[in-house]
Amino acid sequence: MPALVLKPGREKSLLRRHPWIFSGAVDRVDGNPAAGGTVDLLSSKGDFLARAAYSPFSQIRARVWTLDPSEAVDADFFRRRISCSIGIRAGLRSVPTDAFRLIHSESDGLPGLIVDRYAGTLVVQFLAVGAEYWRDTITDLLLELTRLQNIYERSDADVRELEGLPPRTGPIRGDPPLALRITENGLQFKVNIAEGHKTGFYLDQRENRARVRQLAKGREILDCFCYTGGFTINALAGGAKSVLSVDSSGDVLALCRENASLNAPPSTLHSTLEGDVFQVLRLFRDEGRSFDLIVLDPPKFAPTAAQAEKAARGYKDINLLAFKLLRPGGILVTFSCSGGVDAALFQKIVASAALDAGVDAQIVEYLSQAPDHPVALSFPEGAYLKGLVCRKVLSSRSYDCRTR
Ligand code: SAH
Repeated sequence: MPALVLKPGREKSLLRRHPWIFSGAVDRVDGNPAAGGTVDLLSSKGDFLARAAYSPFSQIRARVWTLDPSEAVDADFFRRRISCSIGIRAGLRSVPTDAFRLIHSESDGLPGLIVDRYAGTLVVQFLAVGAEYWRDTITDLLLELTRLQNIYERSDADVRELEGLPPRTGPIRGDPPLALRITENGLQFKVNIAEGHKTGFYLDQRENRARVRQLAKGREILDCFCYTGGFTINALAGGAKSVLSVDSSGDVLALCRENASLNAPPSTLHSTLEGDVFQVLRLFRDEGRSFDLIVLDPPKFAPTAAQAEKAARGYKDINLLAFKLLRPGGILVTFSCSGGVDAALFQKIVASAALDAGVDAQIVEYLSQAPDHPVALSFPEGAYLKGLVCRKVLSSRSYDCRTR
């Protein structure tokens, strides 16, 4: 077995069961491992630490498959891991749906592998060279263990580049329909698995959409960065007085309108606006418009901590404007999916947005990613989605208990 021998003291993260070894921790490579092939990770004294996938081009030089010296990395290994991951899924949902994540990469013990199920179709992403190495084995096992026929690949995420892998998309097996329909919480959504974001839909926001549905009744709602209408359709179903959905992409807004019409007859309660949320919020402020509930679910401003400062300015800007547009007693549901901005920093940014807006607000709920996107305790990087539900207080002098 080829091996990576670590520098003295660099085994600490593995002893805490963290699954990554960075290039700077590697003293030498023994043998001639293939890209994505299996290597043993050895301490500077030669002790076995883990068995991992070798990634020669990435800063993350190895991703751990197993910490057990007696466990071989072969088809049986993947059969055990995949069937375990699939097996626990039914218990990880609080909202009924036929679209959910089956495998969540490092946090399910399968680094670099994402598998989502949309009705009868699987969509898979091989995001690291180790997962790529086992692509055929994994594909066969996924179909066998789910008893499905259709599998589509969306290995077009930017992180592939860091692994020295070109993007790849298309059907792998069967004849997957590219535009399909899912039912989440009794609501229908069209999903385009070939061209949609991620694998087609923001499955990670499922429980938060259901929460907005509960909060929507009688409220005038602004859904910013609405994509294909996840929050919008739930707000309409929850009895919103009106919903305005804003996104910079005309294509996603067309799908948002289609999704609205799949669930209810056409209605003047729902409208869409194509534009840059940063500009739209400014315009609304200047026009003196106001809302009872605002959703802010922007794209990733900071993939890593290096971009956190610039991202913080972006988050602060939109949250500050949203606080201004909210009526007293109104609700802000605000998110960050940036890995580089953790929950504590995000809360500080939202707090300073409220301060600069001259607004008092309370956090009434903390939100995170859906339970089928678990976070291994040994892998805190897995906690990427954080959200706050904030209630704007009427005035800073007299706390008012009215809600809108
Ligand atoms: N809330 C959605 C997911 C949002 S994804 C859901 O639950 O399904 C982020 C969306 O923001 C994308 O649809 C993208 O087109 C849009 N977007 C990105 N930058 C934008 C900007 N500056 N203004 C408006 N929309 C933007």
